[in-house]
Amino acid sequence: MPESTLALFSGTPGELSLERRPLPVPGPGEILVRVLGCTLCGSDLHTVAGRRSVAVPTVLGHEIVGEVAAFGPGAPRHDIAGTVIAEGTAITWAIVAGCGECFCCTHDLWPKCERGVKYGHQRAAAGSEFRGGLAEHCVLVPGTAIVGLPAGLALEVACPANCATATVVAALEAAGDLSGACVAILGAGLLGLTAAALAQVRGARDVIVVDTRAGRAARAAEFGATAVGSPGDLPGLVAAATAGRGADVLVELTGATAALAGAWEQVRIGGTIILVGAVSPDAPWAIVPERIVRRSLSIRGIHNYSPRHLAAAVAFLADAWHRYPFAGLVSAWYPLSQVTTAFVAAADGSHVRVGVRPG
Ligand SMILES: [Zn+2]
Ligand SMILES: [Zn+2]
Repeated sequence: MPESTLALFSGTPGELSLERRPLPVPGPGEILVRVLGCTLCGSDLHTVAGRRSVAVPTVLGHEIVGEVAAFGPGAPRHDIAGTVIAEGTAITWAIVAGCGECFCCTHDLWPKCERGVKYGHQRAAAGSEFRGGLAEHCVLVPGTAIVGLPAGLALEVACPANCATATVVAALEAAGDLSGACVAILGAGLLGLTAAALAQVRGARDVIVVDTRAGRAARAAEFGATAVGSPGDLPGLVAAATAGRGADVLVELTGATAALAGAWEQVRIGGTIILVGAVSPDAPWAIVPERIVRRSLSIRGIHNYSPRHLAAAVAFLADAWHRYPFAGLVSAWYPLSQVTTAFVAAADGSHVRVGVRPG
């Protein structure tokens, strides 16, 4: 019987075990994918370091690119744009497979599906272990939004599409029309760099990126930022760009309450604050509601994204990776057999992303 390898995380910090399991046979509506590569997201690092609790055992990794290996009976033969997919087609897919019928799926809250399957986050039950990217194969369940990848799109550019890039697309959609806008971005990790480039592509006039790490902030200048600095520089940078009026949009990508608390007052009257980074609990954000009311501010939280955002993310990357150095952001690849080493390398902070690929 053919087998496939997966990396199982059982809850012991820093430990992943490579195990062989029978190669899954795709069931009705399912697609078997051969994993080409998977980049390690910040949430994977938090989980393996023991800072984030998940149902275990589990196969982590959700920033996945693969190629179709086999179709189950009745499985879709096209992606969400209607483009034909066949065995060997390179694809990415949405992090959450929705049921399409529950309250959330029918109210544009796709990633909150009440019965959804979230790749790289599922408890590995016998017979359904292959639901993450740190493996040789992954099985796509019915309801998975698949996007075919343009020919030639580099693996390191495509892998983060279904997490970082699509989330940024959703965040900036929530920010509204960016033509001529001043967009302030907190955090210059993969999301912040992507947000800077996308804001520029969407017509923002001023893109200001701040980060506590000077090297990261400086890198944002290669991704469309018109001004970069430390968080303490933000008031001066925003004032200079807007003649003191304030930023139209603030995008929070650090998850640190302190970053938000020090920055939100740089948003202009009638402006918008988009919260994305705060995916694990931190200190409360102390704010007098009257300040929100009198300044007529809008505040939106964005967690994950819907299928249309993934399609837009891939379309964005297909063009943007020729204009911005996205290909340099995944700066180390490790074979699946060295997955534990990959996590150690990713944790030291010198890489924006580290990738793992079978073979
Ligand atoms: Zn992620
Ligand atoms: Zn649903």
